[in-house]
Amino acid sequence: SPHQGNLLEVKNLVMQFGGLKALNKVNLCVAKGSVHGLIGPNGSGKSTMMNVLTGIYTPTEGTVRYNGQSLSGRPASEIALSGIARTFQNVQLFGEMTVIENVLVGLHHTFNANLVDVVFNSRRYHEEERKARERAAGILEFVGLASLANEEARNLPYGKQRLLEIGRALGLNPSLLLLDEPAAGIPPADLPELTDMIRKIRSHGITVILIEHHMDVVMGVSDNVSVLDFGQKIAEGTPDAVQKDPKVIEAYLGS
Ligand code: ADP
Ligand code: MG
Repeated sequence: SPHQGNLLEVKNLVMQFGGLKALNKVNLCVAKGSVHGLIGPNGSGKSTMMNVLTGIYTPTEGTVRYNGQSLSGRPASEIALSGIARTFQNVQLFGEMTVIENVLVGLHHTFNANLVDVVFNSRRYHEEERKARERAAGILEFVGLASLANEEARNLPYGKQRLLEIGRALGLNPSLLLLDEPAAGIPPADLPELTDMIRKIRSHGITVILIEHHMDVVMGVSDNVSVLDFGQKIAEGTPDAVQKDPKVIEAYLGS
């Protein structure tokens, strides 16, 4: 039965690609306000889960409930508007746009000015634009990129591009943020900063699902961790319990 404290409830999820079940009857509950780690060897189905949750893939079987409502059959654009934002395993930014413009793209849907305002260059349009820029600047401050606001995104080091992706996702004002390997490409010395940032995001009431290979990061910040192996959930619990679980150790040693 649905639990009041869960923001997300996934039941019996199957995602089949030809003969391969990338997800095989996965159940997943994510508590509101938590950081939920999702780990597993390469190819275990983690990114597929993100793609199902954001409506990029339509699951073969199973249900996803978010905030008590079914996401089944809803297009990706609608799911994004309902408050689920993500970053990608491979950074997807607008390289030729500036850093702040990339965040403004994320803010766009909260923009209230209509076409008439834009065409007639109205005060309301300028006011909305000013507010959006102010918010984007605040987000850049939050992710530590304020000094790079006017750089072209493609000129940023890869690790900073990842932070910008997080900023762009935050611009959507999400209730649920999905991070797909945010630490990949970030210099080891900067990982504590990333961990702190994820904690800060949680402290703003945003629920996070964190896919991550860096065990220090995922175990250091997650309230709960689920482990996938060959599309099936093989373990779940606190970081401590999961790290000691023989099934988990075997899955990683065998990969
Ligand atoms: P992870 O993110 O855990 O490394 P993925 O979710 O990317 O794993 O992939 C899980 C499995 O599903 C892999 O075997 C992968 O090759 C397969 N897969 C993922 N996406 C597709 C797709 N669009 N078409 C066919 N197979 C896919
Ligand atoms: Mg992946």
